[in-house]
Amino acid sequence: NKQVILKSFVNGVPKQSDMYLNTTGSISLRVEQGSNTVIIKNLYLSCDPYMRHRMTLGDDPEFAAYPLGSPIEGFGVGKVVESGYPELKKGDLVWGVTGWEEYTLIKNPQTLFKINDTDVPLSYYTGILGMPGVTTWAGFYEICAPKKGEYVYISAASGAVGQLVGQFAKLFGCYVVGSAGSEEKVELLKKKFGFDDAFNYKEEHDFDAALKRRFPQGIDIYFEHVGGKMLDAVLPNMRTFGRIAACGMISQYNLEHPEGVYNMTNVVTKRIRIQGLLAFDYFPQYAKFLEVVLPSVREGKVVYVEDVAEGLENAPAALVGLFSGRNVGKQVVVVARE
Ligand code: NDP
Repeated sequence: NKQVILKSFVNGVPKQSDMYLNTTGSISLRVEQGSNTVIIKNLYLSCDPYMRHRMTLGDDPEFAAYPLGSPIEGFGVGKVVESGYPELKKGDLVWGVTGWEEYTLIKNPQTLFKINDTDVPLSYYTGILGMPGVTTWAGFYEICAPKKGEYVYISAASGAVGQLVGQFAKLFGCYVVGSAGSEEKVELLKKKFGFDDAFNYKEEHDFDAALKRRFPQGIDIYFEHVGGKMLDAVLPNMRTFGRIAACGMISQYNLEHPEGVYNMTNVVTKRIRIQGLLAFDYFPQYAKFLEVVLPSVREGKVVYVEDVAEGLENAPAALVGLFSGRNVGKQVVVVARE
């Protein structure tokens, strides 16, 4: 059983060498009937920025540190190879939290979602049909409470969540601008995902000017993925009664001392509503989500770009690549295809 293990807790920017590949001897693929456990063969693993929180000994109960010496965990898609849990049988496909290894003993199989629709790529259950999809759906429709014709800005816009937020917002009838870290990503936003406009924040350093140019009338909805200086630049550009979905703040995750945000007075004067969200609060509504999003995927109304790394040995590089923007689209790791 090949596994990805965290070597030591991470300070600053995570590196490939913070993890190592371990090969254990042969493992038993048997569980007792009635044990309420299952063994899954991992097929696709999801690289998600929140995993950085778990690589550090922090005090946030939502993100307990990975135990050193054990495989790290994350969302993934797998196939049940042995089941002692009545709701799942051998051969079933599932998505949920699993280990970064070839086979994982799942002790809480009730947390897994059974995959019934297999006419779409299975890897989508790490992205558009999995955790990032639920995040987008809840964040955009519920937290942003959009109205047709509103002005929407998305940072880290080409990634797992951002590309979807933009497409949902366009389908809803909003004006959408995104920022991303390369010309290739900016092109993708405009040509593939249909954003009205996009800019490269690594080239346009004056974020305030970049936003004023694209939103002379101001921003109604900001889907926040970056935090820090970007958030500070957005606040004065918000319109009265604007909404901010605080989904992530990736520019801050590797800093020992997070940057200050100075323009908070705008929240008062413009009556801005800022609300955080965590995907798993919405997992109980997964069936409802799937009913809405799956048809859009099937009909091609929403497209999804993935960046696929082949093999568990390439998983550490894929994961740390999120923090330099190496990924173009949703970062997935293929462990096995069936
Ligand atoms: P992405 O697929 O967008 O990958 C991360 C991207 O972030 C990189 O490709 C890079 O793109 C950008 N990035 C990295 N470092 C920085 C930086 N210092 N400043 C600005 N941009 C940076 O990831 P996701 O779509 O999965 O996640 C996006 C955000 O949403 C993250 O903040 C994440 O934590 C959050 N999230 C929150 C969830 C929740 O439940 N609240 C669920 C899922 C995600 P670029 O080249 O454009 O810089």
